[in-house]
Amino acid sequence: MAKKISARGIKTRAIHAGEDKREGSSSSAPDLVMSSTFHVDREVSFSANNLDEDAPYVYTRWANPTTDQLEEKLAVLESAEACIAFSSGMAATTGALLGQLSKGDHIVMCDTNYPGTAEVARNTLSRFGVDMTPVDTSDLANVASALRDETRLVWIETPSNPLLNIADIEAIADVAHAHGALLAVDSTFATPIATRPIELGADLVIHSLTKYIGGHGDAMGGSICGSEELLAPLRSEALSHIGGVMSPFNAWLIMRGMATLPIRMREHEANAMAVAEYLENHPRVEKVLYPGLASHPQHELAAKQMDNFSGMVSFRVADAPGMAERMMRELEIIHYAVSLGHHRSLIYLLRTDDLAETSFGLSGDALKAYRETAGEGLFRFSVGLENAEDIIADLDRVLHH
Ligand SMILES: *Cc1c(COP(=O)(O)O)cnc(C)c1O
Repeated sequence: MAKKISARGIKTRAIHAGEDKREGSSSSAPDLVMSSTFHVDREVSFSANNLDEDAPYVYTRWANPTTDQLEEKLAVLESAEACIAFSSGMAATTGALLGQLSKGDHIVMCDTNYPGTAEVARNTLSRFGVDMTPVDTSDLANVASALRDETRLVWIETPSNPLLNIADIEAIADVAHAHGALLAVDSTFATPIATRPIELGADLVIHSLTKYIGGHGDAMGGSICGSEELLAPLRSEALSHIGGVMSPFNAWLIMRGMATLPIRMREHEANAMAVAEYLENHPRVEKVLYPGLASHPQHELAAKQMDNFSGMVSFRVADAPGMAERMMRELEIIHYAVSLGHHRSLIYLLRTDDLAETSFGLSGDALKAYRETAGEGLFRFSVGLENAEDIIADLDRVLHH
């Protein structure tokens, strides 16, 4: 009997998982099926709720063969039973939150995470009667003391944006489960090459596929991985009804990008380490945050939980707005642009007043602690796949003045 794909090495899985030959096709690359509807040759229900498991393809908002292949590849890489693809990371995030939470429920969330997620939890969920407690999830005690009887979900992001804090997935899964809550992990910065949260006890894994997994800055997408039992209701409600489905073309592009994910992550890590070490020795740089540096406050936990430190480096210099302007004008290789995880290097200033005060809504001691680390803002640097010496030379010219 052929060896199961899930038993093969990670590079083999990234290339072959999900890409089984479709009936009647002889193509080696996955078929791109750009069809919103399908010929149906037997009676099937007109409600996505009533579709049985072996239902034929009916309508692409319910399921599409190309998107199915991407979902299978992601599930295999995440050691998950199942996966659902969405049109963006935010569609996946909102789908997971609205699909899991009901009026009267409570959620504990990382207090410095992706701003879109923070804003949905604070502004949208609150309108539907869901209460959110933001905590610094890099300290387990904070999570434990925020849990209540009504807590249904703990939501962490590790490494987090832009502080690159690490949350202990295994320990948090234990306290959440002991309280009857589920654990969702936004693993966008880590990718399954670094961390597989399901293996550590997490229930749901969220990705923005727009970042490392697609990897080329040309297609938006998102995903939720987890057990069949948790994902089945999400598939009909969060995907088909809320409707943030992925285009099959994007599924095809993202699958193409994923084939090289393991080797790209190895190079992202090597380049990020070189950049982080360069920055740490630069007299103008006041602080460098990178989980791979011994100076990172949670370097030990990162080394235990991550097989790869990924490619995100945050750093601080004096007069951050002036430096941002110089970067916009003078960088030659690195793009001054948001987003992350692309083959191209991207850098952006995340201003503390925008992010910590507006998006995260931090105040009091939490804001003070954030300011102590981030000052007036952190440059979030997504270190790309160019030659490390070219990336460093580009940065060195603008930091030099
Ligand atoms: C980008 C990002 C998201 C949102 O994903 P989109 O694809 O932009 O909708 C969510 N979480 C993290 C950590 C991200 O970096």
